[in-house]
Amino acid sequence: MTQVRTRFAPSPTGTLHVGNVRIAIFNWLFTRRHGGRVILRIEDTDPQRNVPGAEVKLREDLRWLGLDWDEGPDSGGPCGPYRQSERTHLYRLHAEQLVQSGKAYRCYCAPHEIGDDGAETGEPTRYSGRCRDLTGAERARFESQGRVPSIRFRVPRDVDGVAPDRKSEAKTSEAQPCVEIADEIKGEVSFPLDEFDDFVLLRSDGRPVYNFAVVVDDVLMRITHVIRGVGHLSNTPKQALLFDALGVPRPRFAHLPMVLGADRAKLSKRAGAWGVAELRAAGYHPDAVVNYLSLLGWSSASGDEFLTRERLIAEAGFARVGTSDTVFDLDKLRWLSSRHIDAMPLEDLVHALDPWIDAKRFPLRNEARPTAVAAVRSRLHTFAEIHDALKLFFPDPSERIQGVRAGLTGNVAALRVLEGVARRLDKLPSWLEPELAQAIREAGRELDAKGAQLYHPIRQALTGSESGPELVKMLVAVGREETLRRIRDAIAVATQQG
Ligand code: GLU
Repeated sequence: MTQVRTRFAPSPTGTLHVGNVRIAIFNWLFTRRHGGRVILRIEDTDPQRNVPGAEVKLREDLRWLGLDWDEGPDSGGPCGPYRQSERTHLYRLHAEQLVQSGKAYRCYCAPHEIGDDGAETGEPTRYSGRCRDLTGAERARFESQGRVPSIRFRVPRDVDGVAPDRKSEAKTSEAQPCVEIADEIKGEVSFPLDEFDDFVLLRSDGRPVYNFAVVVDDVLMRITHVIRGVGHLSNTPKQALLFDALGVPRPRFAHLPMVLGADRAKLSKRAGAWGVAELRAAGYHPDAVVNYLSLLGWSSASGDEFLTRERLIAEAGFARVGTSDTVFDLDKLRWLSSRHIDAMPLEDLVHALDPWIDAKRFPLRNEARPTAVAAVRSRLHTFAEIHDALKLFFPDPSERIQGVRAGLTGNVAALRVLEGVARRLDKLPSWLEPELAQAIREAGRELDAKGAQLYHPIRQALTGSESGPELVKMLVAVGREETLRRIRDAIAVATQQG
């Protein structure tokens, strides 16, 4: 099989969000599976719509998701990306080539001369084909009037105009000639040729239109698979005709189903169009984002939903891609994020959480971080949730005192336990889990207290609450001095009357 070559081709007109980044993910996984090359191509031919800084953000988002790309122009370093705005000369060259071979022609019509229907009915204006067969003299006359031509594609009007290897397919399509697309996901899709007017390839100012720039790039970049959202299916016949006209075999096309918001409407800011940067800021695990977005319209052969990147790569493909719209479900992403967080080696998780812990300035010593994180990791759906989890160790002092007052006031047995435990903890040479566990057990024996009688007062003194993460881990996280201070505080509060 020839090497798989794919591209992700965003326009720098906004941010990456769940709807469009999933296209990048699908391309990337599929290409990695086949040992191919992924190209990042910035489709920035419309200066009016380009948003300054969008490309930089887009690259940051892709990097965060661990999606790399393999090629780029010399000027952009070894890994690009390509930018269409830097390739105008190539589009002009190919447009000219099509004019030379008679497959495109110069159109001298001014905007108001285009189309003889539709202007009043509100229908899209179809080009009448006025300049399709100009004589040399007519062309010369327009040129002498100073008209600057655009270049239009001469859409084949019968099957003879369709690429030779496609003729038999076209002929079988009943009476009217059609462009047939064999989509990897949608199957055979047929578009009657007379739906298309002679569309513009190059505007009179020399800028290419989207459909033309895409095809020239896909040809030059030797793209083997065009994988994108189903919204682009309607562009595909025009692009297929252009491949045929350029004499280049069409790539395989694959159009992924649409993603809808939770309200089953088109993704919008209001309903689920989460930006990649927002997901990152909310602390989702990037592998969970890749995992979840892959499941939008696709499923694993095993039916498993929690899939590592390696498994996603191993299974990537068009089999089991659905054709119906899918719905973005934040709860499922949360669940997958908790699974990915839980599966991380502790050291990596601590490293990933460091900035989140630092940002809140919890008084958690570096050496206690692994223990603290191990105690709460199963509660986390996102990295951001470490804040709430660490609050279990470092509650607001007033809440802690309130808990102590409510739970321990006048409880003589509990106060005895706290005093006995504090004595032992105070003498401990090291502040590590096994020693702490042993010291508490010994204190229990000495005081003849066990189970809840022993542990609840300590928990209550430490945090104001009877429940929470594993006690010895909490003690490690809180540290010696602070633990002893809280126990002393609790004894003082609980012995105060009224
Ligand atoms: N630039 C197009 C977009 O952002 C993608 C074009 C393509 O994949 O062919 O939707």
